[in-house]
Amino acid sequence: MPSRKTAIVTGSTSGIGLAIAHALAADGCNIVVNSFSDTADDQAVTDAIARHHGVKTVYIKADMSKPAECRALVAKAAESFGSVDILVNNAGIQHVAPVEEFPIEKWDAIIAINLSSAFHTIAAAIPLMREAGGGRIVNIASAHGLVASPFKSAYVAAKHGIMGLTKTVALELARDKITCNAICPGYVLTPLVEAQIPDQMKANKMDRDTVVREVMLDKQPTKEFVTVEQVAAAAVFLCSDAAAQINGTQISVDGGWTAQ
Ligand code: NAD
Repeated sequence: MPSRKTAIVTGSTSGIGLAIAHALAADGCNIVVNSFSDTADDQAVTDAIARHHGVKTVYIKADMSKPAECRALVAKAAESFGSVDILVNNAGIQHVAPVEEFPIEKWDAIIAINLSSAFHTIAAAIPLMREAGGGRIVNIASAHGLVASPFKSAYVAAKHGIMGLTKTVALELARDKITCNAICPGYVLTPLVEAQIPDQMKANKMDRDTVVREVMLDKQPTKEFVTVEQVAAAAVFLCSDAAAQINGTQISVDGGWTAQ
């Protein structure tokens, strides 16, 4: 039996990252689970992935706003499993405010976590992937990597930035059997998004369905949320042999948002 691949998924204790961790484990990868909190829940999530899919998992704490911790995450992953074959840069945060009022510390945190962290993890992973004879880098961008919305200056700037990083890395590594691509999800129903629905219902005096359709999914033509499983399936595909010639581009999973 060929040895299992090692996949690092940043920010993988909830939402899209957790679904990607499960999907790659179901595909036979050993998984490095990451967050910055190091709680009993983080360990329980990590153990559950191993139990459920019969692979090895390890939880590694790393704050993705800190360059040294981003790079240490990759080094520790290699120590744990002997190689790094797949890197999914998923950790991300959001803040919504007009640009002239945007708090400087929020701007800095969003650029650090949503963009610079990927630069650091990629830089640390490249020698290990070369050593392994190839690899896959998947950056979780957003529809906001392709188009903008008001009041999300830092998020849109970071996500557009990660699209540029994706293309550049793809070109630099094209001869090394390492691909680098992005996934651009539209509105995904993660616990984070679910928690906003009751407030929106109150603020807009609307029922749940109307809030979802007319407020949250205003730009998403299908008027349905993307699921975390749908994003995870795109990630598994980009990590497959079938995707070896897909490089420096993105898969949009946005219900048609960016077709407009
Ligand atoms: P989420 O809040 O459920 O997950 C974010 C993850 O990032 C969490 O596991 C959190 O622990 C981790 N994280 C945050 N700050 C961190 C830090 N400093 N260090 C390490 N980990 C950190 O949100 P999500 O919706 O699953 O988002 C995951 C990714 O998908 C993000 O990059 C987000 O921008 C992107 N995305 C989400 C949506 C959506 O609608 N939910 C749409 C497009 C793109």
